[in-house]
This record gives sequence, structure tokens and C-alpha cells, in this order.
Amino acid sequence: MLAATSAPRIDAKKRAVLDPRKRQFAKAQYVECDYTYRMNFYTTPPTGDVSLEEFEEWGIARLKVLAELEACQFRNKTQAETEEYMTPVLEKYMRLSSNRSMSSEMGLERKRDHYSHWTLRLAFSSTVDLRQRFARLETQLFKLRLKMDDSNERKEFIASLPMSWEVVSEDEKRLWLEDLKAATGFRREDDESWFKVDWETVPELVERRQCLLKKGKAYVHVREQLSMVTNEFSRTLEAGLELAARHLPRLDEDNRLGPILHHLSQSFVAPDAGYSESSSIGDITTPTAASIDGLSQHFPLCMQNLHRELRKNSHLKHFGRLQYTLFLKGIGLSLQECIVFWRKSFKLIADDKFKSEYLYNIRHSYGDVGGDANRRGRGYTPYSCQKLLTEALPSSGQTHGCPYRTYSPDNLIGLLQSVGVSDRQLLQGVREDVGKQRYHIACNRVFEHAHKGNIKKVKEENMWPASELDTILHPNTYFKRSFLLKNLGKVKSGDLGMDGPTQVGSSGEQ
Ligand code: SF4
Repeated sequence: MLAATSAPRIDAKKRAVLDPRKRQFAKAQYVECDYTYRMNFYTTPPTGDVSLEEFEEWGIARLKVLAELEACQFRNKTQAETEEYMTPVLEKYMRLSSNRSMSSEMGLERKRDHYSHWTLRLAFSSTVDLRQRFARLETQLFKLRLKMDDSNERKEFIASLPMSWEVVSEDEKRLWLEDLKAATGFRREDDESWFKVDWETVPELVERRQCLLKKGKAYVHVREQLSMVTNEFSRTLEAGLELAARHLPRLDEDNRLGPILHHLSQSFVAPDAGYSESSSIGDITTPTAASIDGLSQHFPLCMQNLHRELRKNSHLKHFGRLQYTLFLKGIGLSLQECIVFWRKSFKLIADDKFKSEYLYNIRHSYGDVGGDANRRGRGYTPYSCQKLLTEALPSSGQTHGCPYRTYSPDNLIGLLQSVGVSDRQLLQGVREDVGKQRYHIACNRVFEHAHKGNIKKVKEENMWPASELDTILHPNTYFKRSFLLKNLGKVKSGDLGMDGPTQVGSSGEQ
């Protein structure tokens, strides 16, 4: 499958003594595949030549698509919203043209799709968690593409699959027509087409009583075909991943692939997903210790809560300090200003004690001190909602974490009212969201209510890219978006980090 673009690093002697029967692709024909259909069931591994660069590049592109698909789930997007969101993503990273398009790129697109699937299959087969995650996302991608496919091409693709179903003949249909209609919930607009399969292959339809059972066969309406194909895809893929996991140790013989596969799987499990350096407002205005009180109006509830607690007690416990320091660093507060901020905030504590007990941790968060080059001098990244929503709950006296999760519903409503959120309908919505453990959705609901006028304007006038109005998944995104929306008209675009700075004022501008 691989054509090395650099000098081969495989020990020739080691290769020579390997039993060829034990090589994973020992019987492979090294030929290019012929891709008749746009869709692929990925039953056979690719065997043509591909360079190492393509191997990695194509894998990364597919990874981006899968990560976006997962983000849609995390944001609770509906099927229709996911389709709308994913269409440009697929177009950008993994376009797949239909046969009808007659595109000259069609062959290359399908090859890329085929190879990248198998690359990631190898990268994600090492642990149960990765296997399950990959199978779930690949199945969703398959389903999405199948739905988007041209209807004739989809029919032909499905007919080409080695599925054990048989179309119900006209004679049989005439014989059982009324029973078929009654058992399968036939609607007037439905096609009069059914097929039969072994009943064990459709247990969910049997359980829901949505098929006709006769002599060990289940008669299923054609509308169920898509979900049956998707289920079969998922089953085949899960089995394939198990098999790949067993073959993985044999890849040791090829030390070109190991690091690439490791890198691909690692980039899927990054802990602080969602944080981007452009969440800082340092390119618009310079936050200072003195401006934090004013800027706190833009903080999400988790950080407002810490700020209020700090102002009330002139102190915060360790985890709260860490969470808040990293957040402040993320909005663009410099280390020097951060030290001034904490020194003034801990006004009941003597200088000596501050220096000996607190200063080091602040500098450490910024990467100014610490072992292991403390993340190469950059310190730690601000915590994402995902991290704050999944870490251990705070014990009594601690205020860190996400209040939508850590507070009881009644206390949460009290907290929101104390920071000025009073709309009854909104509070009711928040109560329902947290009841269903959709904490970040509750937080987004509050955000959208606070900025509804400006969000509408931004949407109507197409001022920002749609991605900059996506569900918020990071406290620093919340802050920056709130800041920008309040300063609408004074700034050019949603993400000044991308479009270039426009000064809206000095450090005091809020
Ligand atoms: Fe903070 Fe995220 Fe919780 Fe909102 S959902 S309060 S931003 S942790």
C-alpha cells in the first residue's frame, strides 16, 4: 500500500526471515482499485501505492471530518442541522462526487476516501474506547453520505452489497399484500416494495412489531433498508476493528507507520479541545488587573462565580485559583498583570505569605517556572467546558467547576438571579436543561438570551462566519464572543484573531 518517499528504514534481514503467510497483506494484489460507486463499504483494504505523506495527510483530513461530526453530537444538533453543518465540511476535506457529476477528480476522491478510512482503522484499533468511538463516528458518516447520495446511485450501491435479502416477488406480494401492509405500518405515500431476510438479522424490527414473520423469515418494508444497511456497516466495521487490533503488533516490522498512527490517534484524544489562542482579546484591547471587574460582565457563570467569591472573601481555594488564573491568561491578561490582580485581590494576606504560598502557582500556570520545560514555556491551557463538566465535584467550601452542574437546580436559579438573569421563561428552560444534564446547553441558552438582539443582527447581516456562532464549548469562547457582541460595530468581524486587529479603545474598554 505504501510507496516510501524516504530511504526505507526496515531491516532487510528482519524482513527476509518473516514468514510471508504471516504478513497482513501477504496475498494482496498490488493494484489500484476500481471505484464503481461513490459509497464504499470498506470491506477490502486498499492495495495500490501511496506515499507516506498522502497516507498521513488523507488520514488527518478524515480525522477533521470525524471530529466535526462528533462536535455536532456534543452540541445536540438534530439530523437536519448536522447535515447542513457537515455539507461544507465534507466538501472541504473529503469531497465525494457522484457518477453523474463526471468529475475528473472522482477517482482520486474515492481513493482518498478508501485509503483514509483504512489508515484511521489501523490508528483507532489499539484500544476498546478508540474502536468504539471510531466505529460510532464512521457509521454516522456512512449514514450521512448514504442519505445525501443520488437516489439512483444509492439504489445501485445497495443492490451491489452482499446482503442476504431477497426481494418479495409479485406473486408473493399479491398473496400477502394486506398482511404486509398491516404488519409493516404501510402508509399511502410508501412504495409497495418489501424484501425478506432471516428474522434474527432484524431483532429491533421484530421487537417493535414492524415486520411480517413467516417461516423464519421477516418481511420488511423497503423504507427500513437504509437503517439495515447502516447496521450491517456498523457490525462489519466493529468486527474489522477487532481483527485489525489483533494484527497491529505485526506492524512493528514497519517503523514508518507506528509514529504516524500514534500521532493520528493522539490528536483525537486531546484534553483541552475547543481552546484557541484567538480566544484572547489581547489583539483588540489590553486587559489589566484593574479592568477585570469591568470585564467580568462578559464572563460565563463558572468564572463569574469565582470572581464574586474572590471579591466576597478576598480568597479562593487552590482549584478555583487554578481554573480562574488559566481563564484570565486565556483572555489575554499578562503574567505581570495577573500577579498584580491576585496580590490586590488577596488583600487580607501579607506580602511574605503571598510570595511564599501563591506566587509560584501563578507563574507556573503561565509556564514561567516548572519542570519539563512546563509545556515549553507556555504553561497550561485554559480549561474547556468538557473538562469542567467531567472533573470530580468540588467539596464544601470550594467553588470551582461548572455551576450548572455543581449547584442544585434551586441554588443555580438563585445564583443566576443574583447575576441579573431574571426572565422566567429562560430560567424555566435552564431548569429543564440541567434536569436532563445538558449543562452546556443551559449555559448557551443564557448567553443567547443575553445577546439575542446582536446575534440576530450578526446573522441577518451575515457579519460573522457561521462557525463563530456555534454552540459555545469553552469559557474563553463565551467571554470573547460576549465581548465582541457588546462591542459590535466597533470591531470588524467575529474573530479578530483571523481578520486582523481593530483597536476599540484602551484597556478600560468593555
Ligand atoms: Fe462555564 Fe462551560 Fe459551564 Fe458555561 S458550560 S458555565 S462556560 S463550564
